[in-house]
Amino acid sequence: MTAATFDVINPATERVVETVALTSAEETDEAIVRAAAAFPSWRAVAPGERAALLRAFASAVDADRENLARLEVANSGHTISNARWEAGNVRDVLNYYAAAPERLFGRQIPVPGGLDVTFAEPLGVVGVIVPWNFPMPIAGWGFAPALAAGNTVVLKPAELTPLTALRLGELAREAGIPDDAFQVLPGKGSVVGQRFVDHPAVRKIVFTGSTEVGKQIMAGCAASVKRVTLELGGKNANIVFADADLEKAAATAPYGVFDNAGQDCCARSRILVQRGVFDRFLELLEPAVHGVVVGDPGDEATEMGPLISAAHRASVAGYVPPGAPVAFRGSAPDGPGFWFPPTVLLPSSVDDRTVVEEIFGPVVTVQAFDEEADAVRMANATEYGLSGSIWTRDVGRALRVARGVEAGNLSVNSHSSVRYWTPFGGVKQSGLGRELGPDALAAFTETKNVFISTEG
Ligand code: NAP
Ligand code: MG
Repeated sequence: MTAATFDVINPATERVVETVALTSAEETDEAIVRAAAAFPSWRAVAPGERAALLRAFASAVDADRENLARLEVANSGHTISNARWEAGNVRDVLNYYAAAPERLFGRQIPVPGGLDVTFAEPLGVVGVIVPWNFPMPIAGWGFAPALAAGNTVVLKPAELTPLTALRLGELAREAGIPDDAFQVLPGKGSVVGQRFVDHPAVRKIVFTGSTEVGKQIMAGCAASVKRVTLELGGKNANIVFADADLEKAAATAPYGVFDNAGQDCCARSRILVQRGVFDRFLELLEPAVHGVVVGDPGDEATEMGPLISAAHRASVAGYVPPGAPVAFRGSAPDGPGFWFPPTVLLPSSVDDRTVVEEIFGPVVTVQAFDEEADAVRMANATEYGLSGSIWTRDVGRALRVARGVEAGNLSVNSHSSVRYWTPFGGVKQSGLGRELGPDALAAFTETKNVFISTEG
């Protein structure tokens, strides 16, 4: 029997980059069994030594940063500047959580008749399931804190984008992380990912991807009360008030949505503009959209590359049919590659599917609102709640709106969502739990309480 393989395609050229063997269900089970067997010795590694191994892994990633970035350009069509940031993010997240093994504190709680202490115990095998949109960072946000807390990890990259994950697995090995403590298993979600969910030795799933699959994973985990963290979709609002720095809001809005060709759960894909400045904002937005440099992702000057696949481009194009209310569009190369130009729509209804559904491509809607309360209501008129931006010079309003918008990550006068020092995650159907920041270890440990009697 020949093993199944997958041809990894460069989305900017449509050429085959590499052919990768797909992990079967049986091989997945074997890997999970090895990960479970490696757990007792990995959790027993002295805290300082585990910290040193994570720092060595971070150094190996740093030394390989340009190679990892070039691999991501070829596999995912990410711009080279983004891909360098992404590899650097893996290094930074490893360094950040390298501090954790030596600081995994419990508590001593006053009780009568003895001493009470808590321990932050690792869970066992953690299964990390990664989507294709940010293969490196999303993998790192799972494996770095999981390993730091003393868990062993099996990681499934998206079928479309396995190359950087496979390289990270090699770098971990070179750095001295035990082979079975961190295993990368390229393959199908329906095979490898499903075995992570169903196998009893996997004690937690960290999943990032579509809300639809996330719901199935949560249901599957219920069967064995498996722990689960979910990072799902978003339909995030960029709210621009009349008193904002309009030039800056308009100049940055394209990058808030078109970065990574809009394939970002934090993309600010709904721009809401206060009615009095609506026309002026559009006048300023148009040159900013035309200014987005779309092209060869390996070129240093490029700001936006292609979409991930032909199928995904067809899905995005379905939101811009002939006769769609296009205000203006940027450019995209002709010829091979899954290109789609930055596109600005002016939908006439708040129920239009371009306003309601996550497009996950370079398409943004612009709509007007009247009062502050209308902006909050429109921003919240979605099942999602991941991120959002608020542009205003009024500090009180910024805080009121930030508190009023139902989302896990908001930024005022900026479009940032992800900083590894701070918690990241969604409300409503955007997810469950938080990644990154100082508390991520809590999602990879269980509290154990021990009472020691001091009675004679
Ligand atoms: P997806 O199907 O949810 O895939 C995410 C990951 O889950 C992939 O590794 C996938 O494997 C795996 N998977 C699929 N079915 C599974 C199952 N039954 N059990 C366990 N794992 C499973 O997302 P997608 O198809 O890549 O993208 C579809 C849409 O999801 C996008 O258009 C976008 O709207 C949204 N999305 C959101 C994010 C985000 O960051 N929140 C990321 C990506 C996509 P395969 O690669 O083999 O399918
Ligand atoms: Mg899918």
